[in-house]
Amino acid sequence: MTRHEADIFISGGGIAGQVAAAVLAARGYSVVLADPVPPATGADRAGADLRSTAFLQPARDLFVSCGLWERLAPLATPLDRLQVIDTTGWPPVEGERRVFEAADMSDEPFGWNLMNWVVRRELWDYLQAAPRVTALYGTGFKSLVNRTTETIVTLTDGSSVRAKLAIAADGKLSPLREAAGIGVTTTRYGQKSLAFTVTHELPHDNISTEIYNEGGPFTIVPLADLDGRPASAIVWMNKGPRSVELMEMEVEAFEQVMFERSTGLLGWMQLEGNRSIWPIITQTADRLVEGRVAVVAEAAHALPPIGAQGLNTSLNDIAALVAALEAHPADPGEPHVLANYEHARKADIRARARVIDLFNRVAGSGEAQVQALRQMGLRAVHDIAPVRRGVMRAGLGPA
Ligand SMILES: Cc1cc2nc3c(=O)[nH]c(=O)nc-3n(C[C@H](O)[C@H](O)[C@H](O)COP(=O)(O)OP(=O)(O)OC[C@H]3O[C@@H](n4cnc5c(N)ncnc54)[C@H](O)[C@@H]3O)c2cc1C
Repeated sequence: MTRHEADIFISGGGIAGQVAAAVLAARGYSVVLADPVPPATGADRAGADLRSTAFLQPARDLFVSCGLWERLAPLATPLDRLQVIDTTGWPPVEGERRVFEAADMSDEPFGWNLMNWVVRRELWDYLQAAPRVTALYGTGFKSLVNRTTETIVTLTDGSSVRAKLAIAADGKLSPLREAAGIGVTTTRYGQKSLAFTVTHELPHDNISTEIYNEGGPFTIVPLADLDGRPASAIVWMNKGPRSVELMEMEVEAFEQVMFERSTGLLGWMQLEGNRSIWPIITQTADRLVEGRVAVVAEAAHALPPIGAQGLNTSLNDIAALVAALEAHPADPGEPHVLANYEHARKADIRARARVIDLFNRVAGSGEAQVQALRQMGLRAVHDIAPVRRGVMRAGLGPA
């Protein structure tokens, strides 16, 4: 059976694992990445990820650092404004509306939106040509020996990888995190989210909009035109049974409910392609490091899809890990290096998880008192300039 040797082993080749491989290889490390599921690199491929990600400025900086941004920038839609509309009842009646301007902070957009399957396609192309990366798709992590001087990983095809550092980027259920003996704390909300793409009558003007109502936000994130029509990615959170009902609804009826839920903001919305459905949880790993194993991305934290925090927080983990390695480049799994990584990320992850958890409860509440509080909070956050800028800055990434 094949025996691989590398500086770093990465379990999981989702977006986070792929980006980690790209960034670490660009820093000169040899990397072996394994994932049992090959990336679906077309919208119509089985298992294609039909969500989009609004990459915030720190994520863009990470992409720039390894030459990925040149590929992604031409495909991305900049987000210049963020609009929050608070509604109550059904059909939803607008209570408050506030617009946050990226120009209030800097001359750059808040972020850049890209379909996840497009990002995976570009990452896959990049990694195939990248020196020092061995991407093993079709085989996964099976077992771990976590020694003081190295890790030895066995893969499901019987091959092994000897590396100084093993990174768990293998998602919420992370088998590598579990093998390292790191537990998780999970909060379930009984919510699910639909994610899908629409075209619509009116232009989006590069404004991302979150419309609150009972069940959770309906989020519209601008995309590039599709067949000459304005297009957006939608993330629509609801109580679980309602999401399942919407997932299974005939397209015509679904479009009618979606039109009402969107308050007709962008005119009639036409569903393009399939709907996908996602459980909503908050989950944090109890520790980010054990021996020579570092935990990143959804293996370290899963958050409700509010404020584009999920994958962006994951990319902040990767940036922090790379920065920590600079202190001791010769041994990326050295205990002090990993302790510095954990120190740099733990508090930020905990704080983000707490804020998003609270936000999710308040945003989806149908109780009149909580709704009144929500509208008051929105007015305060927006209308008091220093508070507004502080919240916007915190939303973009760690200080
Ligand atoms: C509806 C929705 C909308 C979202 N929108 C945004 C947004 O706008 N902005 C944002 O920042 N975030 C967003 N997120 C969050 C974001 O999509 C996730 O954080 C991200 O996709 C997770 O990436 P990941 O690479 O950590 O995990 P995953 O994509 O789950 O990748 C984990 C990988 O590990 C692999 N794996 C499993 N078992 C093994 C094994 N034994 N060995 C090796 N590999 C294994 C899996 O096959 C998989 O490829 C959203 C989430 C949801 C649910």
